[in-house]
Amino acid sequence: MELLNNLSWIIIIIVTCIYVLVLYLTKKIPIIRGYIGEWRVKKELDKLPEGYESLHDLMISVDGKMSQIDHIVIATTGIFIIETKNLTGIVYGKIRQKNWVQYQSKHHKRQFQNPLHQNYGHMKQLASVLEREESDFETLVVFNERVKLKLDNDLQIIRNSQVVKVIQSYKETKLTDGECQELIIQLRKINIQSYKNKQKHIEQIQQNIKNSELLIKQNICPKCKTELVKRTGKHGEFLGCSNFPKCRYTAKSKNAKFDKLY
Ligand SMILES: [Zn+2]
Repeated sequence: MELLNNLSWIIIIIVTCIYVLVLYLTKKIPIIRGYIGEWRVKKELDKLPEGYESLHDLMISVDGKMSQIDHIVIATTGIFIIETKNLTGIVYGKIRQKNWVQYQSKHHKRQFQNPLHQNYGHMKQLASVLEREESDFETLVVFNERVKLKLDNDLQIIRNSQVVKVIQSYKETKLTDGECQELIIQLRKINIQSYKNKQKHIEQIQQNIKNSELLIKQNICPKCKTELVKRTGKHGEFLGCSNFPKCRYTAKSKNAKFDKLY
């Protein structure tokens, strides 16, 4: 009897420890939150009826540039590209902004790429590599239920629980069954998701940063390759593209008093 009691205490302690650890990890690590978000949307997409094919966590390379796509759904009503965001706190964003801001608390904020722009980029890449018209695609950004969103009113953002309904609301036929099958085969072929390719993806990002830094040192705009000139803003001196307002690239100048301008 005593042994049984001890055993149940040990089990309770172990379960509590695991629970606390999971709670801690899900709160603290955005990458894990990202995976959980993708898994939740995957579970939702599994509810789509026959005729809708879903592919998850794809890595594709176009002209040496790699990008990661959370989900693609293929149906006769189109190719749906889905970007998943699983965040806490409050998110502020506008359609034209390059970055959106997430406030996890009053003093803890973080910037992330505008997911609409991110998804648009993915769509462009896929249209080129699959040799399809852009009108064959639909892009969806899916947020988890709990995060508060302070966005432009007319933004096309949906929540996890709406994703199936929204996809099914598209009725116009854009592809034949044969084309759908062909696309799935094509996508599986170009998906280079593997540890090695992930490493390459990270190395490429690091290389891009290095290249940008080199160009900035020579006063060249990494975005459009025209000259960078010194400007003074309300936070002090910075480098701005001489091609402004066409190019809005800015970098911090050596004498700058701040870390981030863009
Ligand atoms: Zn520029």
